[in-house]
Amino acid sequence: MSVYQSSRLDGLTPYTPGEQPRDRRFIKLNTNESPFPPAKRVTEAVKAESEALMLYSDPDSTDLRRAMRDVFHVPEERIIMTNGSDEVLYFAFSAFADEKRPLIFPDITYGFYPVFADLIHIPYEEIPLREDFTVDPDRYLEKGKTVVIANPNAPTGISLPLAQIERIVKTDPDRVVIVDEAYVDFGGESALPLIERYENLLVVGTFSKSRSMAGARLGFGFGSEKLIGDLNTVRNSVNPYNVNRLTSAAGIAALAENDHYMANCRKIMEIREWTRGELETLGFEVLPSCANFLFVRKRGIGGEELYRRLREKGILVRHFGKPRIADFNRITIGSMDQMESLVCAVKEILEENR
Ligand SMILES: *Cc1c(COP(=O)(O)O)cnc(C)c1O
Repeated sequence: MSVYQSSRLDGLTPYTPGEQPRDRRFIKLNTNESPFPPAKRVTEAVKAESEALMLYSDPDSTDLRRAMRDVFHVPEERIIMTNGSDEVLYFAFSAFADEKRPLIFPDITYGFYPVFADLIHIPYEEIPLREDFTVDPDRYLEKGKTVVIANPNAPTGISLPLAQIERIVKTDPDRVVIVDEAYVDFGGESALPLIERYENLLVVGTFSKSRSMAGARLGFGFGSEKLIGDLNTVRNSVNPYNVNRLTSAAGIAALAENDHYMANCRKIMEIREWTRGELETLGFEVLPSCANFLFVRKRGIGGEELYRRLREKGILVRHFGKPRIADFNRITIGSMDQMESLVCAVKEILEENR
């Protein structure tokens, strides 16, 4: 701790992103990026927009929200665009949670939630997942607590049925329920249709995973005009130009190619199921995934050890040293070639251990 630090930093542990190695070429299966490059229309749009970089971006993201409206069939007033979905989550925590409205979220979920909460001093309770790593909806029915649930959850990949989300939302119209749908395009069920009926529901999404744009930083939120208004109050108090010109142009072009990206998601799902079969044949337990990753463990080999041995063979996966999940690794679904290499490396490691 230094003399310069505000008390906000007391005891704060920042989020640890997955490695982005620069020294060596790895097969990167550790941060849930897409193995598919952006569509040509996207790279061309970015190039064209770069001519206008001396001008600020549109603080209302008007054209981008219009393109979102056309794809998601949601009125523009119910949409906010942000610098990655991490930003809309941060805005939502700021707008809808405090000492009087503490947060609740699962004990095993996206690592950013406790970090944001700690940074702005929001108390939170971590609700244990059930033994089988599913979310227990009954434990989110307590009134007065702001809920955040990743659905499908990360890093488990397990999806909660929409009827259960609706139950949680319905329980208390006076508290906000944030549903983080970063992985919904890989087989989950979106809560988006519910925003018409429930003013307290915020559905959050991202272009990072299913639309090959992790490096562009584009996220969004859907909700009632009331919620979106509050989020814009925070946004305009932090950074009104939060979506830059290049990202906005990329987003509009990506939405014009939405069918292409959704076809990519179906390919990822096929490769996921192939990989799951291979790993199960090798004796792995694989949690049922509706995401672009698998969460896996195997008796007889520690999570940390498998992570390290794969790394030595040039393959990066994600290991979390947390109590209940230390035996697991999270493996992003890459291209078929990459997954064949992964399965091959795993086989070698198991052979070497015999
Ligand atoms: C990747 C991820 C995000 C953040 O995505 P960005 O849009 O890249 O900020 C949010 N929530 C979950 C659960 C994620 O896995």
